[in-house]
Order: sequence, then structure tokens, then C-alpha cells
Amino acid sequence: MTAATALAATLYAPEDLRMVDRPLDDLAPGMVRIRFGAGGICGSDMHYFRHARTGDFVVTSPLVLGHEVAGEIVEIAGDAPGLAVGDHVAVNPSRWCGTCVRCQEGRPNLCENIYFMGSASKTPHMQGGFASLFDATPAQCVKVPVDLPFAAAALAEPLAVCLHAVRRAGDVAGRNVVIFGAGPIGLLTLLAARRAGAAEVAMVDMAAAPLAFATRLGADHAIDLSKGDAALDPLARDKAFDVAIEASGTAAGLASAIKAVRRGATIVQLGNLPGGKIEIPANAIMAKELDLKGTFRFDAEFAEAVDLIVAGDVDVMALVTAERPLSDAPQAFRLALDRSQSVKVVLTAG
Ligand SMILES: [Zn+2]
Ligand SMILES: [Zn+2]
Repeated sequence: MTAATALAATLYAPEDLRMVDRPLDDLAPGMVRIRFGAGGICGSDMHYFRHARTGDFVVTSPLVLGHEVAGEIVEIAGDAPGLAVGDHVAVNPSRWCGTCVRCQEGRPNLCENIYFMGSASKTPHMQGGFASLFDATPAQCVKVPVDLPFAAAALAEPLAVCLHAVRRAGDVAGRNVVIFGAGPIGLLTLLAARRAGAAEVAMVDMAAAPLAFATRLGADHAIDLSKGDAALDPLARDKAFDVAIEASGTAAGLASAIKAVRRGATIVQLGNLPGGKIEIPANAIMAKELDLKGTFRFDAEFAEAVDLIVAGDVDVMALVTAERPLSDAPQAFRLALDRSQSVKVVLTAG
């Protein structure tokens, strides 16, 4: 019998993403093996692709990318309550330990011993799901109907991130919300804020195409800051933004958010800022008595996201601008990087 292998999108260095046949060990007890169905290319995957790092996480050995994935269970070793071979599943990329202090206090996304697929946050790196076959724990698998497109199931992960971000903002019902960055995460945050009852949602970006997309998706205001922050001033005066969610991952975005919100507002940092020091008008955090909060990944929101997608309550497929076979991952990454034509690019099994 020949040893099993999986074809995996593996990053070696900046812009050096290769499709590599990787040997698969026998499935370990307590694990399930999943055949790749679909995978969303995330902003953090693109950061890894371009720079071999994202934020403070640096790729020091070959890394299989991908953490927004769904597929079909092809093998189970041991007990997997509620799961069977042939099931279609959305895969939560997080494996929480369940025993550390943060897990115990109900914040498993901050788990001290977390395993997160496709991440260089630890060495050795945790390999991702852009692979024709990959393994997960039963707890990572949320069963979905077989008629749900794998692409939709894969996008439960970014939706969960955005549901968590909106939850971190507190009660947004009846509040004016401004979101910096109209990429996939900003756009899903728009949909999540709407569901949470936000009054008006303004989207801010530096590029025309994402803003046009945001308007089509239902943003009340689309503000282009490419010519400077002042473009936001009239609306900020008018609307008195109660909540800002910074999804661009730029110092400029956070600086604009601090300036734009009303006194006593809440700012949630969702985007992955560059590692190291950045310049922001920090004194206003005191002078305007702002609540500046971080948001990191998600916890129970993953299952919630799957439910919303299965029920048709959030149309994640509206964000998908291209589907490409996993085997063409390197080209698909280049397409995803072109914001003039791409919102969300999804890899498929084809
Ligand atoms: Zn992601
Ligand atoms: Zn833990």
C-alpha cells in the first residue's frame, strides 16, 4: 500500500506559494480526516503570502495556509459523537485546550494553548486547511446540510470573526456605526452590525471598488478617504458615531476612528495592525473617554455563524467574486490581492 499524501498550498517565502504533495500519517486516534471542499482566502493568508508574516507572526518553516475551510469527512479514528463518514462539515480552525484559565473563564479564543490552523503564531507552525486532505478534532467539525455549497460553509469562519467583533462593541441596537476597511471582514461586519440592529452603518475605505460593493451590500454611507480624513468630517458631525470598528488593520484607520467617533464612544480593533509601534492620536482615548477594545477570532460565534448561513439569514455568497480550484491556489492568491476586482476568492475542490 502506498502512503497517502495530500496536495497542499504551502508557503516557503514571500510570494513563494507552492502546491506540494505532503505525506499523511495514519489518522491519529480521536481525529477525523476531511476531504477539502472549499476554502476562503483570508486577508491574513494574503499577508503571509506577500510578506511571510502577518502582524507579529513570522513564517520560519514551510506553512500550509488556510483556516476558512469546509469539506467532507472521509475517515474517523475513535469516537466522534454526532459525526459520520460522508458528513459535510464547516471546520472551526481553533482547537481550544478547555483547561487553561482563559478557557475556564469562558474566553476560549484567548486560550493559552490554542492550536489554530494555518498560523505561524507558534513554532512548529500549525498547518492549515488548503490541502486536499486534512485532519481535525470532532469538536472542530460543525455538520452542515449536504446541499449547502462548501464555499458558504467555509465562510462561517470569517462571519464568526465579525459576529464576535460586533459583540465586543456592546449593544449596537439603534447606534450609528462606522466601519473602517471595506474588505471581506469589513463587509461581513456590516452584515453582522445590521443583524444586531445598528441604526446607520457607514463604510470607509481608500478604494472605489470595495466602497461600491459596500453600497450594493446595503451600507448607508460609503466614504472614500483616499483624499484625506476630512471626507469623513461632515458625516461624523451629523451622525455622531457611537461605535467604530477598525477592520483595515492600518494605523491610519485607527487614527481616523479615534478622530471620527463621538465622545464616550466605543472603538473595536478588528484588523490586524502591523507588528511593532504605530502612531495614533492616543490622547483622545482619555480626552473623549473612549472604550478602545481588541477583538480576536471568535468562540461560540462559530456555531452561530453556521446556523445563520444554513438558515439563509446571512448571504455570505454575496461576497464571493471568484472560485478557483485548490490546485491553482498561487494564481488565486494573486487574484485575491487585486482589490479592483476581488472581494472574496474561494478555493474549491475542482
Ligand atoms: Zn481569516
Ligand atoms: Zn485553553
